[in-house]
Parts: sequence; structure tokens; C-alpha cells
Amino acid sequence: GSEKKEDAKKPLRVATNATFVPFEFKENDESKEYQGFEMDLLRAVAKEMGRDVEINNIAFSGIIPILQQGDMDIAAAGMTVTKERAQKVNFSAPFYESKLVILTPNESGIDSADAIAGKQVAVQIGTTGAQYAENQGYTVKQFDNNSDVIMELQVGGSPAAILDKPVADYFLTQDGKGKYKVIEIPNTKSEYLAFAFNKKDTGLMKQVNDAMAKLKEKGEFQKLYKKWFNT
Ligand code: GLN
Repeated sequence: GSEKKEDAKKPLRVATNATFVPFEFKENDESKEYQGFEMDLLRAVAKEMGRDVEINNIAFSGIIPILQQGDMDIAAAGMTVTKERAQKVNFSAPFYESKLVILTPNESGIDSADAIAGKQVAVQIGTTGAQYAENQGYTVKQFDNNSDVIMELQVGGSPAAILDKPVADYFLTQDGKGKYKVIEIPNTKSEYLAFAFNKKDTGLMKQVNDAMAKLKEKGEFQKLYKKWFNT
């Protein structure tokens, strides 16, 4: 009806947590500009759909609840598709294959995944990394933002963090260069990152999937991937 048409003209209300570098981040606290692979992809998708975006920066753990309440249209938050989450929200086609890893300072004495047993690990609340650390029975210290998780390592509060590989790898090319290392966790499965939607919003999800497919056909998806991951 006419109401639906009105909705289609409104900007897409996007929920993110802009501390997941290089997927979504801001240069500094004052910056209004959202950068990163997922932000670029989201804007390209919206352009394809003829929609504007309005990006909202919130705690990662608040994103699924806010989608469920219908207060946001789409989550662009490096969110891993999991069975548990798929009961609460719908996921688009995935746009990135990730994996959990351990990030630790070079001189922490931690050289394997086994070596973190009994040590404290920093994680972001509500993430697959937090879930994994808890399941392993690690002593866990939780933070609202990935930036705080990394800060925790920098100030020596915890000797290791568990987070997504692309985020840890990127840190090693930036502030962590020469000072930190990434340790693979044996037997961890790939995780697939996707946009998430309210369960009722299947129309919007389809439009986003169609737009992503078009961007792949046109090679624009690949261009963005190369820009941020250099492969
Ligand atoms: N991919 C991880 C998850 O979905 C981490 C996401 C994030 O920190 N933004 O839990």
C-alpha cells in the first residue's frame, strides 16, 4: 500500500558498532564519517536500491535486540551467522569468511592456543569470541567495544584477546605492527559475516541480497574487497 511506498523512501536505519576495523570504524571520536569494508558495501548496496542510509553507532550486544524491536532496519556489524542468532534475526548472503584467533603481545609468552588456559582473555560482549572463551572455561574480561579490547592489551590488563582474524590481522599492519602476533586456534570453524534484519523484513533482505548480487556481477564488490583486504 501507500504506507509501504513511503517507507521505501526513508533512509535505511543502520545499526553498527564502529570499532570493528577494517569493517566499520571512525578515524576518531569526533569523526562523523564511517569507514571500512562493510560501510562501503552497505552504501553501495543502498545506492543500488535507491535508498539513503542513516548509520547509528551502538554497543554490539544491543544490535539484535534493537532489530527485534523494529527500531533499526539493518545491522552492519561484522555479525557472524550463527544458529542461535538465526532464531532471532534473518541474515543476508554472507560477504566475508572469518575465523576466531588469539591476539597477544609478542613478548607475552603465549605461543599457542593452549597457553592461554588459566590466563585472562579480553573479549567484546555478545560476540562469538566471547562465547568461545566462555565455552573453553577461560577467565574472561568483557568490554563493550573492540577498541577497548585492544586497549586492554595495550595497557597490559590482559595478556591476550580473542577476536575475528581480519580485525587482528589489520591491527598488526597498524598500531600493533612489530609488537603483536596473531595465533590461530586449532579446530575452529570458519565464520560467515552477514547483514542482519528483523525476521519480518524479508522484503528488505531480498532487496539487499539482490543488490549485493548485482555489485558482484559488476565487479564492485571485488573492488571494495581489494581496497580493504588487499587481495
Ligand atoms: N563476528 C563476531 C561476532 O559476530 C564479532 C563481531 C564484532 O565484534 N563486531 O560475534
